[in-house]
Amino acid sequence: MEKDARIYVAGHRGLVGSAIVRRLRAEGFTNLLLRTRAELDLTRQTEVEAFFAAERPAYVFLAAAKVGGILANDTYGGDFIRDNLLIQTHVIEAARQTDVQKLLFLGSSCIYPKFAPQPMPENCLLTGILEPTNEPYAVAKIAGLTMVKAYRKQYGFNGISLMPTNLYGPGDNFDLTSSHVLAALLRKFHEARLTSAPTVTVWGTGKPRREFLHVDDLADAALFLMQRYESEDPINVGVGEDISIGELAMMIRDIVGYTGDIIYDTAKPDGTPRKLLDVSRLHALGWQARIGLREGIAATYAWYCAHHGG
Ligand code: GDP
Repeated sequence: MEKDARIYVAGHRGLVGSAIVRRLRAEGFTNLLLRTRAELDLTRQTEVEAFFAAERPAYVFLAAAKVGGILANDTYGGDFIRDNLLIQTHVIEAARQTDVQKLLFLGSSCIYPKFAPQPMPENCLLTGILEPTNEPYAVAKIAGLTMVKAYRKQYGFNGISLMPTNLYGPGDNFDLTSSHVLAALLRKFHEARLTSAPTVTVWGTGKPRREFLHVDDLADAALFLMQRYESEDPINVGVGEDISIGELAMMIRDIVGYTGDIIYDTAKPDGTPRKLLDVSRLHALGWQARIGLREGIAATYAWYCAHHGG
């Protein structure tokens, strides 16, 4: 990628898109094409086509998506499948029509079967039933991956798909009903410390295991793979280690400096028992995550305090 190449980062205000923009700017890329949702509604095909025809991006990072935690996915499945199908279909098709040089699509580790072997290799995709709480989101993302692959085969379209694990970092959504677990727990422990609440409630049993990747590591991998990876096969992006939700809660309690107790609300869903990516394909290319979990959570907590009134 030339430093003055026209690069469109779709979803640049989100957790992932904003990290990719920070990373591109740090690397000296000068010609970033960015549009807010008010300026360009990606669920409207004519708007997307007009944008691509006028701006002619050379590279596209497709980081725009409707995302959320287990409860949001479980409650608003219709919105998750519709918005994601529309956004990705419009962007990938407009990129094909305007001869974009390369497009990077972001899938997710939740698209793998609920009972996939752990760690999950890329080739376990579509080998079993999905976790019901995020099936609509997963089906949309699987459609996106399949579209990228089919466009490569039929049209020679240069698209690649990354499968990031659970992400966290600055700019995350800290809303308690729609966020993912790490952001939710940071906020819950923080507020419990401020109000001297005796307990913090963690959803589920605390037994499910998840892998967490700092979004700055993901952005680094995205740039690396945009420049080095050419394949119809998706590639997992993770750290290769997981932790139980109970252990995560204790780590966050410690980082925040809260001294009260943790209680579990088992009326809330656990979701998939374990989600750990097999990252051997990525490691073989010479990329590894650098930000340790404790260090990454501490940095995210500092960001949260600075931006949410500490
Ligand atoms: P998932 O990876 O798709 O299941 O999404 P989440 O990040 O939302 O949830 C991961 C796990 O953390 C699930 O087992 C949740 O039940 C559990 N969890 C515990 N406390 C919370 C919380 O306050 N918010 C969320 N979103 N999940 C929580």
